[in-house]
Amino acid sequence: MTQGQHFTRLARGAAQPAGHASLRRTNLSLVLRHLRDHGSSSRADIAEATGLHRATVSNLMAELLERRLVREVGIEHAGTVGRPRRAVALDGAHVGVLGLEINVDYVAVHGTDLGGRVLVERRVGFDAMGSGTDHSLRELGRVARQAIDELTRAGAGPSGLGPGDLAASGASGVAASGGGIRVAGIGVAVPGLVDVGHGVVALAPNLGWRDVSLASRLSVALGDVQAPVTVDNDANLAALAEYTSGVAAGTADMVYLTGEVGVGGGIIVGGRLLRGADGFSGEVGHMPVDPGGSRCGCGRSGCWETKVGLAALVRMATPDRAYGMATAPVPDPEERVAEIARGLAGGDPLMLAAVAEVGRWLGLGGSILVNLFNPRVIVVGGYFATLARWLLPFAQAELEDLVVAGPAARCRFVASDLGFGAASLGAANVVINQLIDDPTAIGSPPVRLAAPQPTAT
Ligand SMILES: [Zn+2]
Repeated sequence: MTQGQHFTRLARGAAQPAGHASLRRTNLSLVLRHLRDHGSSSRADIAEATGLHRATVSNLMAELLERRLVREVGIEHAGTVGRPRRAVALDGAHVGVLGLEINVDYVAVHGTDLGGRVLVERRVGFDAMGSGTDHSLRELGRVARQAIDELTRAGAGPSGLGPGDLAASGASGVAASGGGIRVAGIGVAVPGLVDVGHGVVALAPNLGWRDVSLASRLSVALGDVQAPVTVDNDANLAALAEYTSGVAAGTADMVYLTGEVGVGGGIIVGGRLLRGADGFSGEVGHMPVDPGGSRCGCGRSGCWETKVGLAALVRMATPDRAYGMATAPVPDPEERVAEIARGLAGGDPLMLAAVAEVGRWLGLGGSILVNLFNPRVIVVGGYFATLARWLLPFAQAELEDLVVAGPAARCRFVASDLGFGAASLGAANVVINQLIDDPTAIGSPPVRLAAPQPTAT
């Protein structure tokens, strides 16, 4: 696997022409993807679902078992008539995946194994805006290194059951103990314009980054880890996480909005992420909505995020704690928002006026997006989600007032329930997709510490 692979191509696992190795890779991927999406299955069921020969499936399964990417889970009775069948499930408990997000005031981490079992999850407050590129990259490297150490240690503990196991019925047997997890891929979410193919951040206005070769610099910083690094825009990754597992999962036409200091958009049209010619689409935070308005991080004036970004709300709701005022330590964004939520719950008139103002601007920008893309939902993340009960009524009313189709457009604002971790979750999911697309790129398992479970016959 090369750095910065374009995930949309990989995520679809399109059949490839060409030789035996390529065909085998595709088929291995097909089997793994089936197990990821449908939970534990028998070889016969996999053959039927994928259209592969039963003998081929058995042959592929031998390799996947050898690589410990699947495991026998015993006997499956569910829905089958006649003889019970031996089932297998996605394993990969020794394969670590790290999703990271660097944003204006924090670094977030989401570490899992191949099955999506969450092993490390946290957010670290960090003033990326005021720290400069080099310092920010060092901090990102430090947090990544620490998370990798924790993932490695977590892998030494007993495996939990993966999400796919919920689909198993009557399955017996437990996962083999980990005993040495190795990080096989790292995804990084950045609030800015990203050249995904090269892992380069072309511009991240709110971080003050321009032409930062993030993938290669992080790889160098992590030295011996030797896991490929993929970089993508935070809103795109969060939108993919929402599409996969959020409140509006599976909605083919949706817009996701990050609610941080900056506001980015991930736009899903007909079930596909919209990227544009250069991958720079979704910069909705810089729609010029008020040319006479205040200065934006991008250097222009009156961008949408100067009206609805967290800094705008903080400036109006808690002026004495506005961004840019030197305070140490840097207030955690969730703490800032929690303070405002307490004020709103207590009926603070200044805060109520601030949230109404931001809500109306949110609806105005939303109406532009609805006129352009006609989404069924606009999923809002970050602080928009935390303050949804106060913000969204104003936003929804303004939206319906301004959209050309009016209420007929039937677009609802909904609050994400993935929290501040949506982008790092999306980054981890993209890496998992890449690994499932090419299981042969996953290194050999570390020394086996636990014997495989005997299977019932
Ligand atoms: Zn701007």
